Amino acid sequence: MTGILGSQYLERQPLRLQERVWIYPPDWQHLEPTIGWVSTGAGLIVIDSGNSPEHGRRALRAIRSISDEPIRYLINTHRHWDHTFGNQVFAAPIIAHALCRRKLEQNLRDDWAPDRLMGWVQSFVLTHVPTLQLEQFAGLRLIRPEITFSGHLRLTLGATRLELVYLGGVHTRDSIGVYLPAQRLLFLGDALYFRTDQQIAERLGRLLRRIDALGAERFVAGHERPYDREVLARKARRWLAKSNSSG
Ligand SMILES: [Zn+2]
Repeated sequence: MTGILGSQYLERQPLRLQERVWIYPPDWQHLEPTIGWVSTGAGLIVIDSGNSPEHGRRALRAIRSISDEPIRYLINTHRHWDHTFGNQVFAAPIIAHALCRRKLEQNLRDDWAPDRLMGWVQSFVLTHVPTLQLEQFAGLRLIRPEITFSGHLRLTLGATRLELVYLGGVHTRDSIGVYLPAQRLLFLGDALYFRTDQQIAERLGRLLRRIDALGAERFVAGHERPYDREVLARKARRWLAKSNSSG
């Protein structure tokens, strides 16, 4: 095996969170966020697509090692490249917040235009994340979300209900959470991923209250291992203290 193509070294085992809910776990070193999926009995719903086509394909292999259900929907939690550059791999209609689609379209007119995209990957992505390799982006095409919503979207498939909720917050304005009420599990994307020296106490407080109101017991963040309510509360206290005292 040569180069990345021997990317088996990055291959990880899927992690089962609940009866029907799995993740392909994140890898901080390669800025690979969590990719989640829910098996509904009437098809799979995938949450985020990875930082590159190669990452997406690796996650898809992990999915296929467990399930041969068709992928009915892909959800983008927000537009950032590390969550959307695997979109093409899943060949399913993409759901995102209306703002996510709008911002992505702006990107597509700018740095992510087809003739500029690989240049941007080289100058931005590979500079910021030198552990990644250009080959992982070979054949990259950006696929836009085709189903959008503002506020809130309820998605029922098979026996599974998902609530897509607008979170906005402190990372990006287009962030949504994906909540599974029966499992009390909330996919957060990067909604709670930020620098603690930002002066954001008010916005952060609002976001935490919004999350709290959902009644989730377990949280799946973009770049961390899943955690429970207690851990979230502990993190929240630390963030709020830091974001109050900074500046
Ligand atoms: Zn991310």
